[in-house]
Amino acid sequence: MNKTDKILVAGAAGMVGSALVRALLAHGFENILGTIHRKAPDFGPEAAGRVRLEPLDLMDQASVHAFFERERPDHVFLAAARVGGIHANSTYPADFIHANLAIQTGAIHSAYQAGAQRLLFLGSSCIYPRDCPQPIRESYLLTGPLEATNRPYAVAKIAGIEMCWAYNRQYGTRYVAVMPTNLYGPGDNYDLQTSHVLPALIRKAHEAKTRGDRSFTVWGTGTPRREFLYSDDLANACVYLMSEAGKTESLFNDQEPPLVNIGCGEDVTIAELAGMVAEAVGFEGEIVFDAGKPDGTPQKLLDVSRLNGMGWRQGVALPEGIGLTYGDFLRD
Ligand code: GDP
Repeated sequence: MNKTDKILVAGAAGMVGSALVRALLAHGFENILGTIHRKAPDFGPEAAGRVRLEPLDLMDQASVHAFFERERPDHVFLAAARVGGIHANSTYPADFIHANLAIQTGAIHSAYQAGAQRLLFLGSSCIYPRDCPQPIRESYLLTGPLEATNRPYAVAKIAGIEMCWAYNRQYGTRYVAVMPTNLYGPGDNYDLQTSHVLPALIRKAHEAKTRGDRSFTVWGTGTPRREFLYSDDLANACVYLMSEAGKTESLFNDQEPPLVNIGCGEDVTIAELAGMVAEAVGFEGEIVFDAGKPDGTPQKLLDVSRLNGMGWRQGVALPEGIGLTYGDFLRD
């Protein structure tokens, strides 16, 4: 990517998309275009003349096609998706499969038609089989049954990976699919019913502290293990992969999909996470586990040797990231 290339961030208002815009600004890119479907965060004075935000319903294929034909971006980051935690995925399975298939099908195909040579598609670590060996290597894709609680979402994302690979093989594009581990960071969803675990625990611990409660409740047994990555770290890794074209060239072959795991390579139990959140928030009471709520996959830890081999490493450690995210929650 050259600094003056037109770079599209589809879904620039979300947690990942806004982190991508910040990372692109920080790396000196001058011509950043973002699609938004709700109010975007303020990207600060350095965004002036360098970031343009356009409202676009990415589920509307006709509008998406017209948008790509008009804008003809050189590079595309496809960060828009319908995402949510374990409860949202089980409550709205139809929305999760429909929205994600619609967004990615329209955007990937329109990007190709409009001549975009490079595209980065964001997936999720839940695309891997539920009981696959840990840490999870890219090659485990489609080697076993998926976790039931987010299967519709996972199947949609797997279709997106296959699309990237198929377009590369048939049309010679350079479309990469990245699989981030559990993400957190500024602009996250703090709604207790639909959020992921980390923002939910921040909110629960904060409210328990503010109300003077003796405890707050964590879903499940506390024993599942999860790996967490700060959203700015993910965005920096994505910008790195798109900028360092030579380092990703090995991904484009007929033998395996163009997949890169993005994570930090370390996991914690949900109980340990709850303890770290309580500490960051300053809540000194008890942490209670509700085993009546689902645990989901027992462990999700990515093997990040492919990414590390390309020269990228995590920057923000979990306790620091939780502190930064809590600061964002307080400002919200
Ligand atoms: P997952 O990684 O796809 O399973 O999605 P989540 O982030 O929603 O959940 C991760 C783990 O955290 C699961 O074992 C949940 O049961 C557990 N968990 C504990 N408390 C909460 C909570 O308040 N909200 C959510 N979403 N998960 C929680």
